[in-house]
Amino acid sequence: MNRWQSRRTPLTRRGPVSRFLLRSKRGQTRAQLRTGAHMLSVAEALNLVQAGVEPLEIQALPLAETLGHTLAADVISGQDSPPFDKAVMDGFALQAADCAGEGTTLQVIEAVTAGQVPQLAVTQGRATQIMTGAPIPEGADAIVPVELTTLEDGKVTINTVTAAGANILRCGEAMRAGEKVLAAGATVYPQQIGLLAELGCHLVTVRRPPRVAILATGDELVPVDREPGPGQIRNSNELMLAAQITRAGAIPVPLGIARDDRDHLALGIELGLQADMLLLSGGVSTGKLDLVPSELRKTGVEQVFHKVRVKPGKPLWFGTKDSLETITPVFGLPGNPLSSMVCFEIFVRAAIRQLTGQAGSGPSLQLPLAADSKPNRHRPTYQPAMTVTSGATTAVEPIAWVGSADLYSTVKATGMVVLPQGDQVIPQGTVVEFLPW
Ligand code: AMP
Ligand code: MG
Repeated sequence: MNRWQSRRTPLTRRGPVSRFLLRSKRGQTRAQLRTGAHMLSVAEALNLVQAGVEPLEIQALPLAETLGHTLAADVISGQDSPPFDKAVMDGFALQAADCAGEGTTLQVIEAVTAGQVPQLAVTQGRATQIMTGAPIPEGADAIVPVELTTLEDGKVTINTVTAAGANILRCGEAMRAGEKVLAAGATVYPQQIGLLAELGCHLVTVRRPPRVAILATGDELVPVDREPGPGQIRNSNELMLAAQITRAGAIPVPLGIARDDRDHLALGIELGLQADMLLLSGGVSTGKLDLVPSELRKTGVEQVFHKVRVKPGKPLWFGTKDSLETITPVFGLPGNPLSSMVCFEIFVRAAIRQLTGQAGSGPSLQLPLAADSKPNRHRPTYQPAMTVTSGATTAVEPIAWVGSADLYSTVKATGMVVLPQGDQVIPQGTVVEFLPW
């Protein structure tokens, strides 16, 4: 028995088109893109990730079970909201023309509470006592709040002037029948559940949050609650990646630490391939014990690319395991914590979006640089950064770091700034891309 509570539903989510999609836009096959043949740009690698990941199966779920799921279809309102002109205050429905001056007294003809339907029309000199949520009687065009009235012997004195339309919400003012109110790909939060409930959508077509397995690799790693011995460090990547997975709307499945040993690694990979996506951390560079790419291939995970022109994160590995029912995406993230984190935000987050049927790779802003910044000569840099606002201007400030093991630099950051490659300092004020976390 492994650590999964539930297996993937054995539904086909792969059509004959999917193998074709694994060709990049430039027509390169996976084989042509193998290590060394061509170092991919971030955009090329991202294209391959998006082409290699198929959305999860669609399910019809009871509304109450859809929190955190993704809508698989647009939602069109089947009704106006509110469905009738309604009172938004407890008070008196009347004709505004009767209240041109303060102190008018009107005959009260009936009282209507929410859920009742008015029986009498309001005419000149008359009013209906009305409660919040009740339909407006014919002939009335304003509600005066009860606090501004005095009721005595079946007559009400209006101690204010009022205008037509006051305290009435007109039929369809909030939402029209036929209007697209939610788009496919939207995440279901409590407010979406509220709206869907208002519309009577008690069964909703959604995609569930994907389960993403994390396998940290490395002989030097110990669990975070253990004191590291000489040469050892704590497995910080597992918890960090788990938190990133949760933030991206998916479910982390931490598998613990695999030793730099083929058999142990193979066991972990087999286990991880039962999730919807597998992330390995470490072991993807060119060191003596970087066994992950070869071991993945042995397990039947086909390489799509290895290495991307990006700093940090160059050793990134991506492949897919095809089985009868599914294609499981697999990432080999570089072990250095910052590389791992950045690769997650650029590539894994896009893959999670793809699994849940969401388009694109998340929010991106164009902001001026708050300070002169030195780029890398050969690779674009995705540097931890924060936004700084002064007056009406928001700029982005890269945070100093001492390399890709420097997690400390990230705690001030609210995202990443993209510094294009080059050998000239990029001057303060240059507009650059900022990717918020
Ligand atoms: P690797 O990619 O395995 O060569 O590891 C690169 C660097 O990242 C090494 O200094 C490792 O000790 C470190 N590292 C690898 N895995 C982790 C992890 N799970 N948590 C923290 N650091 C790690
Ligand atoms: Mg290692």
